[in-house]
Amino acid sequence: MHLKAIELNGFKSFGKKSRLDFTHPLTCVVGPNGSGKSNVVESFRFVLGEQSMKSLRGKSGKDLIFKGSSGVQKQNRAYVSINFDNKNRVFKLPSGDSPINVDFDEISIKREVFADGNNSYYINNTEVRLRDIVELLASVNIGSSGHHIISQGHADRVLTASTKERRGMIEDALGLKIYQYRLKESEKKLSKTKENIKEIESIRRELAPHLRYLKKQVEKIQKGEELRGELTTLYLLYFKREHAYLGHEESFIKKEKSRLKDLLDSLNQKISNIKIEDDNSFEIQKTAEIDSILEKVRAFRFEKENLSRSLGKIEGLVELEEAKVSRGDSSITIKNSEFNSFIDSIHDDIDSALSSSDLTSAGASLKKIKDDLSSFRQKYKLTGEVSREDLDNLLESKKGLLSKISELDKSIEESSEKVSLIRNEISKNKEDRYKAGEEKFTLENERNRVASSLEVIENKNTIFLRRKTLFEENMKEAVVLVGQNILGFEKGDDNIDFRDEEQEDLRRQIERLKIKLEDIGTGGGFDVLKEYEETAERDNFLIKELADLEGSIKSLETLIDELKVTLDTEFKTGLTKINERFEEFFKLMFGGGGAFLSIVVEKPKKLDENMDETDVVEEDKSFEQGIDINVSLPQKKVKDLAMLSGGERSLTSIALLFAMSQVNPPPFLVLDETDAALDEANSKRYGDMLERLSKYSELIVVTHNRETMSRADLIYGVTIGGDGASKLLSIKFAEAEGYAK
Ligand code: ATP
Repeated sequence: MHLKAIELNGFKSFGKKSRLDFTHPLTCVVGPNGSGKSNVVESFRFVLGEQSMKSLRGKSGKDLIFKGSSGVQKQNRAYVSINFDNKNRVFKLPSGDSPINVDFDEISIKREVFADGNNSYYINNTEVRLRDIVELLASVNIGSSGHHIISQGHADRVLTASTKERRGMIEDALGLKIYQYRLKESEKKLSKTKENIKEIESIRRELAPHLRYLKKQVEKIQKGEELRGELTTLYLLYFKREHAYLGHEESFIKKEKSRLKDLLDSLNQKISNIKIEDDNSFEIQKTAEIDSILEKVRAFRFEKENLSRSLGKIEGLVELEEAKVSRGDSSITIKNSEFNSFIDSIHDDIDSALSSSDLTSAGASLKKIKDDLSSFRQKYKLTGEVSREDLDNLLESKKGLLSKISELDKSIEESSEKVSLIRNEISKNKEDRYKAGEEKFTLENERNRVASSLEVIENKNTIFLRRKTLFEENMKEAVVLVGQNILGFEKGDDNIDFRDEEQEDLRRQIERLKIKLEDIGTGGGFDVLKEYEETAERDNFLIKELADLEGSIKSLETLIDELKVTLDTEFKTGLTKINERFEEFFKLMFGGGGAFLSIVVEKPKKLDENMDETDVVEEDKSFEQGIDINVSLPQKKVKDLAMLSGGERSLTSIALLFAMSQVNPPPFLVLDETDAALDEANSKRYGDMLERLSKYSELIVVTHNRETMSRADLIYGVTIGGDGASKLLSIKFAEAEGYAK
C-alpha cells in the first residue's frame, strides 16, 4: 500500500484542479513564500478528516474555498481527493457488516466542502460518514492526532507538549489510539452503567414500600380467598342440609297441623253431639209413678182382704144351707124376696167399696156390708130357716165375690209388672247417662291431647319460621361473602342424613371463618392484585435489569482491565522500541550523546501526600502516566529541554518524530519545513534520516533547504501564476534550487 496521488480543486489558493502524483518514496514541494505549499500540507489534513478549523488556518468552511483572483473565478465548493494503492487489501472497515465496499485495488478518499460549511465524504465515490473515513484510515495506521503531518513551525510540538499529551502522541504513533478509544468508550459505558444501577436501585428503593404494602394486601387477599374457599365448602354443606331440613320440616308441620286440626274438629263435633241431662227429673217422675201405682196396689189388697172375708162368711153360710138342704131341714125358712133384697144391698155396698176413691169411703162401704151381714144373720138365726132359693142366692154372691177378687188380683199383678217396668226404665236411664259421660270424658281427653299436640306443632312452626328466616339471612350474607355461586348448593329432600349437633357444629365453624374473614378485611381485590402483579413485574424487570447491568459491569471491568493491560504492555514494548530508535537518531543528529523517553507519574491533585508514586502506579497504571524526554548532548551537561537552542530543539524533535515513525510506520509522512532551523551539517544528517525513513513511509517534504531538495526523487514546484491561483508542476533539482534559501 502506498500513497499514489492527491488532487486539489478549489481548495484554498488552488483555484484550479491540481494534482500531485507520488511516484517516488521522497517527494519535495518547493516554491516561493506564499505560493501555497502549506495549503498542500493542509489539503492532506483536510481530506483525512481534520475538524479543527484552526489546524486548517481558517475560521469557517468558506475560508477553505478558493476566494477568486484576477484571473480565476471564485468557487462555491472545494474538494481534495487522495488515492492509495490497495492491491494488498490493507484497507479495512471494522464492522464486518458495513455496506461500504473497500475490496478494490485502489482506494480513493474524497472530502468536499461547501460555502455553507457543509462537508461531504466519499470512499471510492460513494458518499459515507466522516466516521467511516476515520475508521478506514485507522486500519492503515493513519491516526487522528495527525502526528504524521507536521505543519510549519510545529516540529517541536512534541517537545512543548505536556507529558500527558506526549503520551497521547506516542500512543497514536504506536497505533494504540484504538485501544484508548475503546478504553474510554468502555469507561464511559461503565460509569453510565453504574449510574443506571444507582437509578434502578433508587427506583427499587422507592418502589419497595409500596410493593411490600401490595404484597401484604395480596397475601391478605389470598388468605381471604383461601378462607372464602373453606367457607364456601362449609356453606354448601350447611345450606344443603338446612334446605333439606327446612323443606322436610315445613311439609311435616303442614301435614301434621292439618291432620291435628281435622282431628280436633271431629272430636269437637263428637263431643258437642253428646247430650247428657244433668238433673234426675226422669227418675223423680218415674219414682212418683211407681209410688202412685203402689198406692193403688195397697187399696186393691185392702179391698181384696175385705172381699175375702165376706167371701168366707158367704162360704160359711153356703155350707150351712147346703147341710140343711141335704138333711131336709126346713125349719129355717127365708123368703126369697127378702134374701134377694139383702144380696142386692150387699152387692151395692161392695160396688160402692170397689168404686170408692179413698180408703175411708171404702172402709165405710165395707162396714155397712158387715153391719148388713150381722143383722141378716141375727134375723135368720132367730128364725133358723133357710130356703133353697136362699142357697142359690148365696152361691151367686160367692161367685160374684170370687170374680171380683180375681179381678183385683189381676190388677195387682198388672200394677206390679208396671212398677217393675218403670224401675227398669229408671235403671236403664241411669246406665245411659253414665255411659255418655264416660264417652264424653274420653273424647275430651283425646281433644286435650290433640290440642296440646297442635300447640307443640305451632311452637315447632314458630321455631321453623325463625330458622327459615335465619337461613335466608345466612344465604344473603353468604352471597356477599363468597358470591352468587353459593346459591347453587345441592337441593334435595333426601339430604337429611345428619344430626342436629353436626349442623350446629357446622354453623359454629362458619361463624369462626366469618370472624377470621372480617379480621383480614376486604382489600381492593382485583385492582390490588393487578397492581401488585404489575409492580412486582416491574420490580422483577428492574432486578433483571440490575443483574444485566451487574453483568455488564463485570464484563466492562474485565474488558477495561484487559485493555489497560494490552495498552500498558503494548505501550511499554512500543516505548522500548521508540527509545532504541530515538537514541540512535539522536546520536546520528548530534554526533553523540543520548536520549530516551521515560514514563512519569503525574500526581493526582487529590493524592494524599503520604502516598508515594509507586502507590499510584499500583493503583492505576495507564491514566496518571505521562512521558518525559531525557536528553544528554555530547560534551554538554545540559539535560533540560528548555535550555536547548532552536536548532538543538529541531534536531531532538526530528529524532523523536522519526523514531516514533519508525516503530509503526505510517503509509506517509508530511513534513512542512521541519528542517528550517538546521545548519548545513545538520541538514545533511536530516537528509540522511529522510532517506532512511523513506524506506518505510512515503515522505512529502515541504522545504526551502537545498540539502533536503537534493535528496528528493521528485520535486514539485508551487507558484502563483499570473491568474492569482496556485499552480503545481514537476521540476528538476536545478530549478528547485532557485527556491532554496
Ligand atoms: P511560505 O513559504 O511563506 O510558508 P507557502 O507557500 O506555504 O508560503 P501558503 O501559506 O501555503 O504559502 O499560502 C498562503 C497563500 O494562500 C496566501 O497568499 C493566501 O492568500 C492564499 N490563500 C489562503 N487561502 C486562500 C483562499 N481561500 N483563496 C485564495 N487564496 C488563499
